[in-house]
Amino acid sequence: MPSPTRTDVPLAGFTTLGLGGPATALAEPVTEAELVAAVRSADERAEPVLVLGGGSNVVVADAGFPGTVIRVSTRGVSLDRALAGPDVAVTVAAGEDWDAVVARCADEGLAGLECLSGIPGLAGATPIQNVGAYGQEVSDTITAVRAYDREERRIAELPAGACGFGYRTSAFKRTPYRPGSATGRYVVLSVTFRLTPGPLAGPTLSAPIRYPELAATLGVAAGDRVPLGEARSAVLKLRARKGMVLDAGDPDSRSAGSFFTNPVLSAAGFAAVEETARRVYGPDTPVPHFPAGDGQVKIPAAWLIEHAGFTKGHQGPAGPDGAGAARISAKHTLALINPGHASTAALLALAAEIRDGVRAKFGVTLVIEPVLVGAEI
Ligand SMILES: Cc1cc2nc3c(=O)[nH]c(=O)nc-3n(C[C@H](O)[C@H](O)[C@H](O)COP(=O)(O)OP(=O)(O)OC[C@H]3O[C@@H](n4cnc5c(N)ncnc54)[C@H](O)[C@@H]3O)c2cc1C
Repeated sequence: MPSPTRTDVPLAGFTTLGLGGPATALAEPVTEAELVAAVRSADERAEPVLVLGGGSNVVVADAGFPGTVIRVSTRGVSLDRALAGPDVAVTVAAGEDWDAVVARCADEGLAGLECLSGIPGLAGATPIQNVGAYGQEVSDTITAVRAYDREERRIAELPAGACGFGYRTSAFKRTPYRPGSATGRYVVLSVTFRLTPGPLAGPTLSAPIRYPELAATLGVAAGDRVPLGEARSAVLKLRARKGMVLDAGDPDSRSAGSFFTNPVLSAAGFAAVEETARRVYGPDTPVPHFPAGDGQVKIPAAWLIEHAGFTKGHQGPAGPDGAGAARISAKHTLALINPGHASTAALLALAAEIRDGVRAKFGVTLVIEPVLVGAEI
């Protein structure tokens, strides 16, 4: 029996921002076959489709979504220890809670995902924007993605090399389906990771700790390894301090995570930002930056936003619809918050204010990280 479809369902309760108007219909398939059937049948009716995981990376319009929302509720984690080397293949159904997967892998003594602790949402969404944090990205360990290809109307097994992973992006994110469909050509059904077990005796060590702030918290040098449990605890502690773990008691976590990606600039673009910083803030103002390959440079969006005059806690304009204002998190410059009575329009008015302020000061146009569903700025 396929799961029932409900109609006219408000989406705010299904997003971590607590924002979004109603969907025409909502289905919650619990098996892979149901998930494929739900997408296939909506496509056959030419209805717009939004495949939704935990709703932690979407901004849904106040008007809602004029189509079918398919909320992935499939389950299953399997471990294959029979690979040629010592590594273990872990295959996870799209509907599994991501942090529970990370916790389980740490418990099983499998290294490779520990720095991705505490990221909200479901496993099936992790390849979409190649989630990353504290020096790890899922593309470091994904070996294959099983997906329903809406164009070809068949299930495809995509090796990692075909997934087009980049910084907060992938072929999944970049390959649209029909206009009006909020979800792209590929619906992720399951993801396979290759993780590394530890020695028979003693704890499994993490992958090398690359992120300086995490290394400092752990009291180790960058490149060192620590027991998996220690890495996970330190990441969760750092994230909680920044309001970056979901916590019903912390209004600063009512966000979609980082709202803007860190801009990747050409050498000339970076020189222009440095020149502005020197002119406006004095000759000794360093602009933090990291190499991003091909001579390009990545700079923290948070630095640009703060230096364009937007401080933590900054409140945006009231919503054009009379709703309350959205604000920047008091703990993290990149997170935009619905304090409780904002609307999507108010949130996007704040996002536009920040984007325009940074562009006016530094000539850099920030790119929005979450997926806008029926909304634009
Ligand atoms: C407090 C907080 C902290 C965060 N921290 C981080 C972080 O450190 N690093 C990071 O990278 N992200 C972070 N995020 C963003 C977010 O958690 C991740 O992008 C996450 O992977 C989204 O998962 P989800 O299931 O909630 O996806 P959703 O928000 O439900 O969906 C996001 C997009 O993926 C698509 N999608 C979802 N599932 C599927 C599927 N099975 N097949 C095809 N398309 C699908 C949707 O259609 C949509 O376009 C954070 C968010 C919050 C709220």
